[in-house]
Amino acid sequence: MEIQTQAHLPMLRQLLLYRQAELRAEVHAAQLARQELQTQSQEVQDLKDGAELMQRQQTEDFQATRDLQELQEVDAALSRLATGNYGDCADCGEAIPVARLTALPSVRLCAGCQAVREHLS
Ligand SMILES: [Zn+2]
Repeated sequence: MEIQTQAHLPMLRQLLLYRQAELRAEVHAAQLARQELQTQSQEVQDLKDGAELMQRQQTEDFQATRDLQELQEVDAALSRLATGNYGDCADCGEAIPVARLTALPSVRLCAGCQAVREHLS
């Protein structure tokens, strides 16, 4: 971890906690919306409305999956913070620059390793 990162840890922790609360609220809201859509689709007789509801459900699911994934990343980052492993790249072990951490507090890889992974996939 960079010394600079150490100085920014309280702020990064705040950012992560804030994002965690936000994502939890979004996941919860998505669950409620899903229940509502399910109730609606049980009532729908019209085929056209049914198709529209299905599409909305798929969009909601996609969003909810993304939120859950990000929530897991934020949780993992917070536990790395707690154990003192925060701020180092998971692939090469180099310190991730504080500017990158500030922009993406839950990031696990340095920009170089991220680019390599994106190139591979
Ligand atoms: Zn790296």
